[in-house]
Amino acid sequence: MKKSLVFFILLAVGVAAPLVAQPPHFKAAVIPEHLLPGEPVSVAIAGAGGANLRLSLVSDQGRLAKAVFWTLSPRVFVEGNIVQAALLTVPSTAKPGSATLRIENGDAVIKEFAITIGDRKFASEEIALNGRNTEIRAVPSALKTQQAGRLWAILSRTGKDVYAVSAFAPPVPADTRRTGFFGDRRVYRYNTGKTDTAIHAGIDYGVPTGTTVRACADGKVALAEYREVTGNSVVIEHLPGVYSIYYHMSKLAVKEGTVVQNGRVLGESGATGLATGPHLHWEIRVAGENTDPDICSARPIFDRDALLAKLGG
Ligand SMILES: [Zn+2]
Repeated sequence: MKKSLVFFILLAVGVAAPLVAQPPHFKAAVIPEHLLPGEPVSVAIAGAGGANLRLSLVSDQGRLAKAVFWTLSPRVFVEGNIVQAALLTVPSTAKPGSATLRIENGDAVIKEFAITIGDRKFASEEIALNGRNTEIRAVPSALKTQQAGRLWAILSRTGKDVYAVSAFAPPVPADTRRTGFFGDRRVYRYNTGKTDTAIHAGIDYGVPTGTTVRACADGKVALAEYREVTGNSVVIEHLPGVYSIYYHMSKLAVKEGTVVQNGRVLGESGATGLATGPHLHWEIRVAGENTDPDICSARPIFDRDALLAKLGG
């Protein structure tokens, strides 16, 4: 037999094998199984292997969210299979009821978990905007479009680095008065009389200008710049596809690319960009989805020990 033919056969077997051999000891664990709109859900998966793994949240509303993945560091094996971490957020617009967490490898569904989404009420508010704020929000410009594109490119990027799986600490003292809440259903009333609606993606802390703003967890500064709509802004990457965001600051104290520790001073709060008064806007994104910061401060963003205990059991 010619050498090239032997090579071809080996190659063919090597390619064909994974198609017939499904992971024999596939396991996955989910925390928590009862969720609220805006809540992140963590999944540990062992035995599915490969880069084709996908996790999504589906309901009769369709596919609600997709997950970001990373490999636990240091590496963990369950029954010889490497454990991968996945994280997604239930959108704040998700309807209450039953839903499914679906794990796919390529085009094959390999596991489904039944979960429930609880009922959650969000506050409604109307915000009157003066001429300046109306222009910031309602008048398009090439610069705004370019800045929005850059921000979205960052938030939808899934890197490889794991900086923090801990709970996130609020960037200003936690008992600070709030002027806006996660998931607020907002109506903006322009000075022209027209209105527009939006869902508030984070928490507004009513801090005076000059208040120290701190990183909520270890991470890397992905964005630190003045933006037309959000003023002096910082975005920190904490996990692949997991970001915290800080808006409207009067001063920035960090540069893009800097690796920061939890509590590192990012700058001072202010009222830059679209603001009706001094405040700090704090926001968390998981795979692009708005995530409730209060839930992220109440428990680890990825509870490795609890998930591994569940996975091994
Ligand atoms: Zn806000």
